[in-house]
Amino acid sequence: MSAFDKLFLSQRQIDQALSLLAHPRPSLKFPEELECQFLRYMLSSYKKENKIFPLAGIFGLLLFFISDLLVIPSLAAESALIRFGCALLILILLYISAKTRTVRRQFYLLAYGVLIIHVSLLFVGVLASKLGNEHYQFGSIITIFFLCNVLRINFRIVLPFALIMLGLSLITFIGFGFSKNQLIESSFIYVFITLISLLSNATMDKEVRLSFLQQVALRQERLALLETQKELQKISEIDGLTEIYNRRYFNTALPKLVSSAQRHQQPISILMIDVDAFKAFNDNQGHLEGDKALKLIAQTIKSCLHRPDDLCARYGGEEFVAVLPFSNARAAQFVSEQIISTIEATRTAHAHNPASPWVTVSIGYCSMIPESYISPEYLLKCADDALYQAKHKGRNRAYASEKNT
Ligand code: GH3
Ligand code: MG
Ligand code: MG
Repeated sequence: MSAFDKLFLSQRQIDQALSLLAHPRPSLKFPEELECQFLRYMLSSYKKENKIFPLAGIFGLLLFFISDLLVIPSLAAESALIRFGCALLILILLYISAKTRTVRRQFYLLAYGVLIIHVSLLFVGVLASKLGNEHYQFGSIITIFFLCNVLRINFRIVLPFALIMLGLSLITFIGFGFSKNQLIESSFIYVFITLISLLSNATMDKEVRLSFLQQVALRQERLALLETQKELQKISEIDGLTEIYNRRYFNTALPKLVSSAQRHQQPISILMIDVDAFKAFNDNQGHLEGDKALKLIAQTIKSCLHRPDDLCARYGGEEFVAVLPFSNARAAQFVSEQIISTIEATRTAHAHNPASPWVTVSIGYCSMIPESYISPEYLLKCADDALYQAKHKGRNRAYASEKNT
């Protein structure tokens, strides 16, 4: 999971990001809320790379000790003390940074750490210049470069720190015995490197911000695509009128359920359900009322199926089908009676139904432990034959297939 995937953005923040991407300002300044999320993203995306810094710090400290011993041996002890003190201060800052929850403060603490190193380098430089080693001060330029280009701190945070460091360096050069030429030369180098570093930081900052906004947009597009996919899947499986599964879904689900029953040698029941005298209902009440009744019937059938594996679908027209896995003929008879009585209990008037004054259904069911040669079509045919019998016997009733086992 990438650092961006772990980031939770509110709808407001997403809208802010999308509008910034649509109308980018030259500075790409984020609103405060989004800025905090961006900083959080920056911190976590460079977590791995940042682990190298303590090691680099120890290595740097070692290099400084060696250089002190070689260039200013008489000051080696004092400078070691300064550098250790500085490392200790940075450790304290890192500790506070690990404890603090405000991301912006963590960035500031990092920048303060670099400022401390910068001051310590200048200080050792001043001591060295007293011994005639003016060039020893130049080590402090590394910190400005490091702050702007290595630490990945944002431009707005970096800018004041880089300027303060530059200012402190120039003051030190003026105050500690540089000749005019040396002063001009070193000031020029410091100003030039600081400007270049700030420029490269600003460019990096802008690019990272842009890529952050693009990632927000990409994530939104991916989510919208997933939604559409889900919607399409639903449309392809659900019957538009009755909102239960359609024939297409049923055709793919039934073979799986039958083959599972065959494998486990468990009973399975299939119920064919047909609305009684529904043509007459339509002819007398109109198709709109007919549609309403079909929807009610479908939802009533669904409400009578309680097990998670039970399935019902619209088979076509005014015919429905239900599958009850792990259910024998007794269970099928029970569920069929439930469906029949619950539908009649909706008391949907049907004056032309020969079986009842209300809308009713007839059900034919087939229950068996299917042998391997039994096909889903065969089970459907048995249930359909039983439905024919239910109609023949007077409708509004359930009839068991003669092939039931
Ligand atoms: P039986 O009791 O023998 O099943 O008689 P029946 O009238 O229900 O059977 P028949 O097959 O003659 O008629 C089925 C009717 O169902 C025909 C049509 O008017 C109606 N029907 C099929 N699909 C729809 C639909 O989507 N909406 C509406 N309103 N009616 C439908
Ligand atoms: Mg029919
Ligand atoms: Mg019918």
